[in-house]
Amino acid sequence: MIVVKVGGSLGIDYDAVCADIARLWRSGQKLVLVHGGSGETNRVAQALGHPPRFVTSPSGYTSRFTDRETLEIFEMVYCGKMNKGIVERLQRLNVNAVGLSGLDGRIFEGRHKGSVRVVENGKTLVLRGDHTGTVEKVNVGLIELLLNAGYLPVLSPPAASYEGVAINVDGDRAAAALAVALKAEALLLLSNVPGLLRDFPDEASLIRRIPAADVETYMEFAQDRMKKKVLGAAEAVAGGVGRVIFGDARAGEPVSAALAGAGTVVQ
Ligand code: ADP
Repeated sequence: MIVVKVGGSLGIDYDAVCADIARLWRSGQKLVLVHGGSGETNRVAQALGHPPRFVTSPSGYTSRFTDRETLEIFEMVYCGKMNKGIVERLQRLNVNAVGLSGLDGRIFEGRHKGSVRVVENGKTLVLRGDHTGTVEKVNVGLIELLLNAGYLPVLSPPAASYEGVAINVDGDRAAAALAVALKAEALLLLSNVPGLLRDFPDEASLIRRIPAADVETYMEFAQDRMKKKVLGAAEAVAGGVGRVIFGDARAGEPVSAALAGAGTVVQ
């Protein structure tokens, strides 16, 4: 079993990712696909007159402040356009994909934060009305039901809070929790960069191997959103996932290449 998370940034070639997944699936590889959609969400939110607001936590993580309107735009894009676009690509390739969010069947469950502490202009503020949280529980029953019946699950945020409220969660960390719950041998985090770069954006500075025990010390190379990927990788290997690969989803055969060791391998 492998878990593949494909990001939502500009430059990702979803046709290439889906074609590669279809080949692997037909050869008998069990897998679950998780996807993002942040680039398209930003574009649609702007077009709807509700531009994204990014906030930084006191520990330096950047995230989207998700009020109710933002959550609804987020759902339109993630559960609608992005999810159905991927399911359609896979169906055209004769793979019986089923798209679900973490809210469906409570696949991803976690705590609703409600308010967040953020740092703005050097001051710490508390913002209320936030619909974000962290995945703490993965309910694999529905996923196993689908896999055993021959369907390929295609999953995306949001998750369900314990009270049943939709919460925006980080896709990389959700995929990591899923890989742990499914006892996956590998977790692939595919994005629009070749892997973790020592000197971002210099692609020649690709870090090829990270010993699992040292992964958190590599956090210093990751800026903004890459930090969540490194954190997700640390959580996955700590939870027993054999290896995590940060791979390139811009062209070629992104999944096969990552499985063959391209990108950054955490092991
Ligand atoms: P996705 O939506 O594809 O999952 P993110 O945008 O969340 O991806 O994270 C990937 C981005 O992280 C890259 O496009 C890059 O701009 C940024 N980044 C920051 N630091 C690094 C680094 N050290 N190596 C690679 N990418 C980095």
